[in-house]
Amino acid sequence: MADDRDALIKQLQADLETKKATKARREEEDAKDALIKKLQADLETKKATKARQEEEERRRQAARIRELEEANRAAYRAAYREEAKDDRIRELEERLRTESRTDIASGIRGVVRQSTSVDLVAMMDCTASMESWIAEAARALCFIIGDVKEKFPALAYRAAFVGYRDYNDGVMRVERLSIAPFTSDIASVQAHIKRQGAITGDAPDEPEDVAGAMSAALGLDWSSMTRLVIHVGDAPPHGVAYHNYGASCDNFPHGHPDDTKIETLAASFREHGIQYGFIKINNSTDKFLGVLREHYEGAGMPFKLNVVELGGDYTAFQPNVSRMLKDSVTSTFKRMSRSDKASMKALPLAVGGKLIGGLGAIAEEDEEEEMRNLEVEKKPPNWDRLGDRVERAVRHTYHFRGGDKALSVLEWEEVNGSFSSSKSDTTVRISKHPFDKGGMRYASYLKDMDLDLKRVAKLPLEVLEGGRLEAYAKADMCTQAVCKLLAKKFNMQTLEKGINRMVSFIDVAVYEFPDRPDAERWMTVEPYIEGEYKKFSNNSGWASNEAGAELAASFSHWTHHETGGFLIAVDIQGVGNVYTDPQIHSKRGAMFGEGDLGRKGVEHFFATHTCNEVCRKLGLVHPDPEAAARMEAAMRAALDDTAIGEEELIEVLAMDGTPGSDMQICCELCGCIFVVTDRDKYMSFRRQGKDLSCNTCRDNCRRDKTQVACSECGKRFPVNLHFYRMKGMDQPKKCRDCKAKRGGRTRD
Ligand SMILES: [Zn+2]
Ligand SMILES: [Zn+2]
Ligand SMILES: [Zn+2]
Ligand SMILES: [Zn+2]
Repeated sequence: MADDRDALIKQLQADLETKKATKARREEEDAKDALIKKLQADLETKKATKARQEEEERRRQAARIRELEEANRAAYRAAYREEAKDDRIRELEERLRTESRTDIASGIRGVVRQSTSVDLVAMMDCTASMESWIAEAARALCFIIGDVKEKFPALAYRAAFVGYRDYNDGVMRVERLSIAPFTSDIASVQAHIKRQGAITGDAPDEPEDVAGAMSAALGLDWSSMTRLVIHVGDAPPHGVAYHNYGASCDNFPHGHPDDTKIETLAASFREHGIQYGFIKINNSTDKFLGVLREHYEGAGMPFKLNVVELGGDYTAFQPNVSRMLKDSVTSTFKRMSRSDKASMKALPLAVGGKLIGGLGAIAEEDEEEEMRNLEVEKKPPNWDRLGDRVERAVRHTYHFRGGDKALSVLEWEEVNGSFSSSKSDTTVRISKHPFDKGGMRYASYLKDMDLDLKRVAKLPLEVLEGGRLEAYAKADMCTQAVCKLLAKKFNMQTLEKGINRMVSFIDVAVYEFPDRPDAERWMTVEPYIEGEYKKFSNNSGWASNEAGAELAASFSHWTHHETGGFLIAVDIQGVGNVYTDPQIHSKRGAMFGEGDLGRKGVEHFFATHTCNEVCRKLGLVHPDPEAAARMEAAMRAALDDTAIGEEELIEVLAMDGTPGSDMQICCELCGCIFVVTDRDKYMSFRRQGKDLSCNTCRDNCRRDKTQVACSECGKRFPVNLHFYRMKGMDQPKKCRDCKAKRGGRTRD
């Protein structure tokens, strides 16, 4: 009995001790929790304070910039009032140009450095299934990343590693992802890979965490122009959409909750400008590779999923990867020395200090661009029977408001405010299928029935949602209008300097189709140019031997000079010296549509531009005259060991063409192209702010004249009906005198 009581007491005491201990532990834990909470709160407060301070600093800087710009403008306006105003304006403009050139020169050095550097990520499945040859794969990867350094000593080169296993492998105390971040210390990455070879997890199902590895690779700090990932794996990602094992062999048949879809990841690799190579070991990855390929190889993008079939032959591994790398480096260089929009989009560019894909800068994070897939029918048009119906359309046109002298260097920033738009109803026929597909857009035949004009309607390859299609079309129209204005100024300078070469841009209007679905409600419409339509730069290679390529390059250079470094017009193509579809990069960025890459676009132009005869005659100064030569030297050095021939490099870089008779311009009214035979007449017209029209339009203008009674004074005055119809503008209601009295415009 006593024993029982003793035992009970002991038991109770023990319980009490346990409870005390538990209580003490709880209290301790609570105290810890409280401390953690307090620390977290402190951290949040500090973060918030820091963010606020940064925001204030940003605001201060922005205000300072505005102040400086305002001071510049004030000085400019003041200069106008002074006696010796011309000298003062010239001085201010020259100062701005010099500043801009200095600014660009430092950027160019970065472009050259970036374009001769390579980021390579080795991504490897490290699970048990790979056991039979994981050591071999690790050895091969180590060899490859070392080999790159040896083969391309002139390249700035960094490597990284992402090893992956699976979710359940964590039970085995093995890391699911094993990451070695980018470093130029290649030996340390090799050591990391070798360590992985020795640890294999015991995966409980067939698929592995491929999605996690791809996300991790995308999250690395990419910074070079040439980016390459080499993926070695023998199993698909989770999700029955990516393999044929069936749900019973996949612990996450709809993907792991943390997974980003392979479709999205694939597009993201492309958008980040990363070349993707896959070393295939067996057929289990085929379905995955199909999805990867479909979403990685976007329309108009120079990306191909590179799959190497190993077939158990390890020796095939190394030469294949070397070839892949050479191809990537070459392709970067080729894209660098071309200026078309699709190429620029495919280049990874620095935006806001952080390097992201060109397209990534535009698209929302993780947003995938949906592409149209239209059947292209290349047959000559039957202009009077296009499509299967006549449909109504609204034609939007864009007009420069001031006289051509109104724009000076310091006011380019407000150029968009110098235009007004008008719209008019019309009816059209459009061919059922597009007749061509470019790097950016589909082109279809369009006949404007009311105006009796042959046109080409263009629709972007991407399906643009919401208001983006309208914005896209209008940005194109605005870009072309600004280029037209620049071209007129350019021509006066070339002609005055005795260079008998001109440039011209065809007119772009925006047509709205009220009866069509949103996805094709807005299109840009330009004159149909018969005959030789040449691209000075296109998606299949730089057409450097085309006559006139150097005139286009000089024009680009000149636009930068003329606008004091505010903008540059590039991506030039067309018929002879009559151009279309340009892109403007502005200092502000994103001002001229989604393709406006800001100062990066400017730096890229100058990094590969060599000044030619026209540049010299115009007195243009290159911000860094040695840039292109340095770039070429760097490329040659980098590719020393490769199979790329001399000719190919020369073709990539040569900008000279045979000078032709570049005296064609685009009719301001009907859009046809004609040759200016009377240089003096052209110049005298332009000095009066007048444009030349083609002979047909001249005759039509003479014929379609009418007398209208002024709504103000009743006096009859002549109205040129052809002019207003072609421009899409309303006829004037008041005579010139009454308009002038009202303080309105004196020039129609
Ligand atoms: Zn698994
Ligand atoms: Zn130049
Ligand atoms: Zn005409
Ligand atoms: Zn009047």
